[in-house]
Amino acid sequence: MRITCPICKTVIEDAPEDGPHPFCSQRCKLADLHNWLSDAYRISSPLDPGELEDDELKLS
Ligand SMILES: [Zn+2]
Repeated sequence: MRITCPICKTVIEDAPEDGPHPFCSQRCKLADLHNWLSDAYRISSPLDPGELEDDELKLS
């Protein structure tokens, strides 16, 4: 079967049925997972605590 890796855009004309679809390799599959986790962490992370410390310095 023919797939296009969403990570490196490599087109595999004859991808094995038991391969890491839709990725060209296990490495790209892990890279995608890493990107997904990074986005999830960034969205759910709270405000930078450094900003609060700056406000306290200005008041004092
Ligand atoms: Zn790839």
